[in-house]
Amino acid sequence: MAKLATQTETGCCSVSLDTSAQLRKVSNDGGCSASQNSYQKRSQAKLVTDALIFPLIDLKSPLLKSYWQTWRCTRVLLQDGPTVKTRFCNQRFCLVCNRIRTARLIAGYGEQLQSLVNPYMVTLTTKNVDAPELKETINGMLKDLTRCKDRMRKNGVKLIGIRKIEVTYNSETQQFHPHYHLIVDGCVPSFRLVAEWRKQRPETTNVKGQHITHADVDAPNELFKYFTKMLNKDGSFTPEAMDVVFRAMKGKRTFQPFGGIKRCSEDVEVEQEHTVDWKPPQTEIWTFEKANEHSDWYNASGEAFSEVQQTERTMALVNKINPNYFIQNTDIDKPNTIAWQSEEEKNNLTQSEHR
Ligand SMILES: [Zn+2]
Repeated sequence: MAKLATQTETGCCSVSLDTSAQLRKVSNDGGCSASQNSYQKRSQAKLVTDALIFPLIDLKSPLLKSYWQTWRCTRVLLQDGPTVKTRFCNQRFCLVCNRIRTARLIAGYGEQLQSLVNPYMVTLTTKNVDAPELKETINGMLKDLTRCKDRMRKNGVKLIGIRKIEVTYNSETQQFHPHYHLIVDGCVPSFRLVAEWRKQRPETTNVKGQHITHADVDAPNELFKYFTKMLNKDGSFTPEAMDVVFRAMKGKRTFQPFGGIKRCSEDVEVEQEHTVDWKPPQTEIWTFEKANEHSDWYNASGEAFSEVQQTERTMALVNKINPNYFIQNTDIDKPNTIAWQSEEEKNNLTQSEHR
């Protein structure tokens, strides 16, 4: 990873990086406000999402439009006095939106789940499947869980809790692993649910795959953390596999509460306004630009918005996900890097940025 980082710093990106670095204005008061800190964290998520989204765009999949929406997500900040306005994409593959989504879900469900008397974490699995079978398998799992709940209710066992559907990808076998994580109130309902699940899917489940453990106080935070592990075990990224997952899950709810737990929306508000307390009130346009560890939103004079210094960990992650990312603008001979440069797309982007 160190080698890659050195290559990009000494390579063709160094001019823009140096320019950005020279023009960067960083407050030297030794700390930053909560809202500045929030934008610094957002810049990390934006940088990693950018690295992920280009390979997904290059696939020209049916989700192409949605991937472009994620590319545009909070790319431009319009400052008007003490506030900035920006637009979010509300997509599952956007780490910027997922951070907001996780916070919303914890706020909406956290207290309700903490008030459960005897909560258990239950994992329900089915056998791993190949890409063409994934969508149908997920549809079947959704129906089967409803059947299990109905049967339990008819037998006087009420299921209270929440379920999350998750899909992981095994890059060695190239298979997908759709499964449920649930928080369920009570020991009897938890064990009964596993028994019903195995009865419902005798061909595709085994006893080893199903787990029941006591849920600790961190269980809701863990549950809401991510929808799918986007990266392989070694930290690499397989865009084709993730595209299969996102297509299979399109239009389906990741989270579903039951037994009286009040539903909380997974949606991220598309238009948002935030207070800027570390910059003077002004009229300004800030655009997200990649500039190695100074990747940030910049104005036309090259002044940085969040004044972030991306961590080594973030930089290593970006380089592992997409080794071309920092050299993409100039590396036009590589076939994987040119999809976003078509005239039509450029025009669309220019229009959307100035809307
Ligand atoms: Zn987004």
